Order: sequence, then structure tokens, then C-alpha cells
Amino acid sequence: MAKENILIIEDELTLIDNISEKLRAEGYTVSTAMDGETGWDKIRSDKPQLLILDIMLPGLDGLSLCRMVRNLSDPILSRIPIIMLTARGTEVDKIVGLESGADDYITKPFGLGEFLARVRALLRRVEEKENVIQQNEMISNDLRLNMTGRRVFKGDEEKKLSNKEFDLLAELMRNKDAVLSRDLILTKVWGYDYFVDKRTVDVHIRWLREKIEDDPSNPRRIVTVRGVGYRFEG
Ligand code: CA
Repeated sequence: MAKENILIIEDELTLIDNISEKLRAEGYTVSTAMDGETGWDKIRSDKPQLLILDIMLPGLDGLSLCRMVRNLSDPILSRIPIIMLTARGTEVDKIVGLESGADDYITKPFGLGEFLARVRALLRRVEEKENVIQQNEMISNDLRLNMTGRRVFKGDEEKKLSNKEFDLLAELMRNKDAVLSRDLILTKVWGYDYFVDKRTVDVHIRWLREKIEDDPSNPRRIVTVRGVGYRFEG
């Protein structure tokens, strides 16, 4: 399996050479930039999985870059793990670095062994966190279901769903692209013992569409499969 793509933004050539050589030897793909503006372009074009960011850079400095990344609208890119490098090792700098959104912080000079250990540790931490997020969330395009908090977001906007609407949407999303019959939906969402009319499903689908479809009268996410049931398409 290919290892992560790492972008190093640093203006000291010797340091770039040393750490990129070390990372490549470990199998990572490495790209580099020597000033803030080039770095900013490469973040968006290369979409790296880890960012090594020097604080003192010509042009845009590392702290500004870090804040800019965290403010990106791309949900994956804005969460890139970031390790800050700096020659300044005071506690205050460390706090400012972490407050700007960095995940870790290494003070120069550092050994390559320590550096590599930090990279591995951060990537491992991120992977574990992503696994938890995947278990807790279902995402489809701009629609996001938080399963533990039972909250639904369409883009940045939270949608208030009733319990049954939430369960219905979760069931549809879990079975994306599959047709679910009204009977199956009733069983899964309302339960075996519950006596409800099949039209209850249709009514709830209509309410759900009003909340999550761009145009509820022309639904694209929850599609009616005539004579059978419904299909969640995205
Ligand atoms: Ca520097």
C-alpha cells in the first residue's frame, strides 16, 4: 500500500534535503516548497496527507498558512495533520503554534529519528481518529449524519429531524443505491410489533425530502421506485 504524501514547506535547503531523504527512504512521497505562497499553491494542488510547516518563512509565514488551511472549505484538506517546525522554542511560541491549528510541534535542531517518530505517531493518531469518525458519521455529498449525537447537517446547516425521520434517513443511507421496500423500511425503522400503515413511510419520506432535498418536489437524494419503495442515491 502506498504511503502518505507529505508536503514540506521550509526555507532551509539542507533541512529540506535531510528530512525529505529520510521520509522517502521510509516510503513516503515527498513534495517541497521553499516559501509560503508556493506552499499554499502546493497544498491545494497536491492535497498532501501531512504537512511539515516551518514557522519563519519568506512571504506567508507558517502560522498564517496553518490558519488558512484550517479555514479551507474542503473538509478533508482543512483537516490535514500539521507538524510545525521552528527555531524558536519558547512555550509561548508553542502555544501560538498549536492555537493556530497545528497538531504537533518540533523545535529545531532535532534529530531525524525523533522527527520520523513524530511523523509516524501523528499519522497513526489521525488514522485512529478517522476510524472513529467513520463509525460515528455517515456522509454523502453535503449531507452528514452524526450517529451518536443523532444530528444531521446539510452543508454547514443543521437540520432538525424527528426520531423516526432520523432513523429512516440512516437506514436509507446505510443502504445507499439499494431499493428498500416499504415493508422492509417499516420493519427496520418502526419495528415488527408496531402497527403502522404503509403510507406512514410515504409521509415520513415527504417530510424528510422537505428537509434534505434541494428541491423537494424534484427529489434527487431519495428517489421513489414505483411500486417498490425508495432508494437513497446520494
Ligand atoms: Ca525558516
